[in-house]
Amino acid sequence: MSVRCRACIKCREYIVIHPSNPINQVEIKRFEKVHSGHTIMTTDINEVKGAYSSFKNHTNEKDTQETE
Ligand SMILES: [Zn+2]
Repeated sequence: MSVRCRACIKCREYIVIHPSNPINQVEIKRFEKVHSGHTIMTTDINEVKGAYSSFKNHTNEKDTQETE
């Protein structure tokens, strides 16, 4: 089973899609809002992993090495 994500090509950020997670749906909406006007694509996580950074809550939390 492949994991899909939404990725902004311009900012090189991505957010993983969890279809059955309502909180994730909100996060994706937020991602799309932050990156509105940018080029957002839906792609396989393997396409962006390593090259793109993951979209987090943009709080003070360090998002360097997050666990899977
Ligand atoms: Zn963007």
